[in-house]
Amino acid sequence: MTEKKTWFETLHDGFGQYFSVDNVLYHNQTDHQDLIIFENTALGRVMALDGVVQTTERDEFIYHEMLTNVPLLAHGNAKRVLIIGGGDGAMLREVARHQSVEQITMVEIDAAVVDFCKQYLPNHSAGAYDDPRFTLVIDDGVNYVRHCQQQFDVIISDCTDPIGPGESLFTSDFYQGCYNALNEGGIFVAQNGVCFLQQDEAVNSHRKLSNYFTDVSFYQAAVPTYYGGIMTFAWASNNPALRQSDVATIQARYDAAGLNCRYYNPAIHAGSFALPQYLLNALQR
Ligand code: SAM
Repeated sequence: MTEKKTWFETLHDGFGQYFSVDNVLYHNQTDHQDLIIFENTALGRVMALDGVVQTTERDEFIYHEMLTNVPLLAHGNAKRVLIIGGGDGAMLREVARHQSVEQITMVEIDAAVVDFCKQYLPNHSAGAYDDPRFTLVIDDGVNYVRHCQQQFDVIISDCTDPIGPGESLFTSDFYQGCYNALNEGGIFVAQNGVCFLQQDEAVNSHRKLSNYFTDVSFYQAAVPTYYGGIMTFAWASNNPALRQSDVATIQARYDAAGLNCRYYNPAIHAGSFALPQYLLNALQR
C-alpha cells in the first residue's frame, strides 16, 4: 500500500494548513517559481506556487467572482479590462462572462503557469483563452503598466503574495503605473491577503495607493483555502460613489449582464465593503 503523501503550505510561520496528496499531476521549477498541481480528495485539484496555495477547484469561484463582478458591476460600463497575473485562467473566465467588455488583456510573468493550468486545471479557464477579445502578454506586471500606452476601465491584480515575483505588484511603482493606465472613472482592485494574518500588507497597500488614488479601501470575502479569516481585496478609484453603489443599481446591472453566480450577488457586493474594526483601526494609524 503506497503511503499517502501530505503537502504542507508554508506561507505563515507556526500556523498553516495541509492537504493529503492523492496524485501529483505536475511538479517542477519554472523560470520564476516552484509549480505544483495535485489532486486532493476534499478540494479537487490544487495549484500552489513556491509552497503557497494559489487555487483549488472547489473554492476558486468565490475569489474569482468577487475580484471581477464587484469592480465590473460597480463601474457599470467597463469596456477594457486588464488582469495582472491570473495564470490559472479563472479570472479571465469570469471577466469574459461580461459581454459588454470589449477587450481583455492579461499580463502574466510565468508562461508555464498558463500552459500547465490549461492542461491540468481546464475548468479554471474553461475555454476563455480562445475568446476573441483576449490578449495574453508574458511580462512582469510592473513593467507592463510602467510602459503601456493603453488605458483601461478596470485593472485586476490577481497576483501571488508579496514574495518572489509577486513582490513587485505591491510597490508604489506598480500602483502608480496602474493609476496612469486607468481611464477616467477607472477602478483598481487587487488580492491583498488575509488581513487577520497579513494586516501589514493591507496597511502598506492602503498607504501606497493613497498617494495616487483619492478613494482607497478594501472589500472582503472568506475563501476557505486562503485560511485565517476574510481575504481583503484592495479597492482604489477617484470616485467614492463607485464604492457606494446601492443594491438596486447593482441588481439591475447583474440582471442585465445575465450573470448566474455561485457566491456573488448584489447584497454580498454591497456588504463586502463592511470591514472589521481591527482593520479600520490599523488603517487609521
Ligand atoms: N488567487 C491567487 C492568490 O490570491 O494568491 C493568485 C492566483 S494567480 C495563479 C497568481 C499569478 O500571479 C501567478 O500565475 C503568478 O505567476 C503571477 N505573478 C506573480 N508575480 C507576477 C508579476 N510580477 N507579474 C505578473 N504576474 C505575476
